[in-house]
Amino acid sequence: MRTSDVIVVGGGIIGCAIAYTLAKEGVSVRLLEREEPGCEASRAAAGMLAPQSEAMHEPYGPFFELCQASLRLYPDFIAEIEEVTGLSVEYRREGALFLAFDFAEGEVLAAAYEKQKAIGLAVEDLTADEVHQREPALSDAVQMALFLPDEHQVDNRKLMGALILAAQRRGVEILTGRPVLGLLREGDRVVGVRTSHDVYSAACVINCAGAWAATVDLHRHPPLPVKPIRGQIVVLHTRAPLLEHVVHSAHCYIVPRRDGRLLIGSTMEDVGYEKRVTADALLRLLAAARQALPAIERCTFIEAWAGFRPDTPDHLPILGEAEPGLLLATGHFRNGILLAPITARLITELVTSGQASRDLTPFRPHRF
Ligand SMILES: Cc1cc2nc3c(=O)[nH]c(=O)nc-3n(C[C@H](O)[C@H](O)[C@H](O)COP(=O)(O)OP(=O)(O)OC[C@H]3O[C@@H](n4cnc5c(N)ncnc54)[C@H](O)[C@@H]3O)c2cc1C
Repeated sequence: MRTSDVIVVGGGIIGCAIAYTLAKEGVSVRLLEREEPGCEASRAAAGMLAPQSEAMHEPYGPFFELCQASLRLYPDFIAEIEEVTGLSVEYRREGALFLAFDFAEGEVLAAAYEKQKAIGLAVEDLTADEVHQREPALSDAVQMALFLPDEHQVDNRKLMGALILAAQRRGVEILTGRPVLGLLREGDRVVGVRTSHDVYSAACVINCAGAWAATVDLHRHPPLPVKPIRGQIVVLHTRAPLLEHVVHSAHCYIVPRRDGRLLIGSTMEDVGYEKRVTADALLRLLAAARQALPAIERCTFIEAWAGFRPDTPDHLPILGEAEPGLLLATGHFRNGILLAPITARLITELVTSGQASRDLTPFRPHRF
């Protein structure tokens, strides 16, 4: 049996961020990944770091505060990862635009504007002319828009690559091709995991297996209530840049990358683990994107993909101790890229001191 202080199950952004942060604190960490780190949702995401966009109509409550706190950690988190690795991960802070194409959509945005403004969040309402000054390629059919200057984005694939390297440089042992098949228990304590290759013991196991978190412990009753929600993204390429900002309409978002790619997303589909790109999604996403940005007609199609958001019954993450020796850090649903730094910090605090610096009651594993 091989031993470490901590075993992290799953090498997505949550597992890698936790492993990196723990190792920085001097904890010995072994990360077990069933395929390659960063091969699932953390690769499929669009990389928006967007608390206000996610809570347009309800910008308050513990989840919103958690998202805001994580966004505040992002600049230092990125600076550190870039310094440790020498890699750039394309962290951008241009803000996001929400477009309205008719009166009804304008009314929805106006209501969101009032709510966000009332609690002091940064939000501007723009006339059609002002929208076109900022983004000349957007459709003439845009009636008005909201601008959220504090919304950021990161190239999540570059971030995953850098985070894996940073974790290794801090001494994390990453074992790939190691599906965890079950937990080892002694009395009422989890003391390790069983994989297809070996058994591994540790004082603490952290389940970060994303949409597959329930499969790590099939003997748990009731099963961990985490399920996959499929999201599809289409990628186009434009030679001359078309957009500076992330742009949302009622039916899609468009995320511009520096290399000319435009990520157009996404769907929300409850279809189990069926990782398929469907013609229906492509048709709808491209039509919605063309309404906002007619010039996509001249773009080159690059690729399309599907990934699984880890969802829970209340759509909130599950963070904290499930039983002695077992912590859960999963269920990040639509915001796992955004929530990686705060999750890593809070779980590290739980491991090293038994206490988290934020109240984790809304996210506790036993709430279901
Ligand atoms: C289309 C789409 C767009 C998104 N856009 C955004 C966005 O703009 N901003 C944002 O913040 N979030 C976004 N998300 C959500 C975000 O991607 C997820 O919340 C986040 O990636 C979850 O990270 P994770 O590490 O928990 O899961 P994952 O990245 O899925 O990682 C889980 C890992 O566990 C491994 N694993 C599973 N079972 C086992 C096992 N038994 N043993 C060992 N390893 C195992 C898997 O192989 C995988 O590598 C998006 C998601 C999708 C699908």
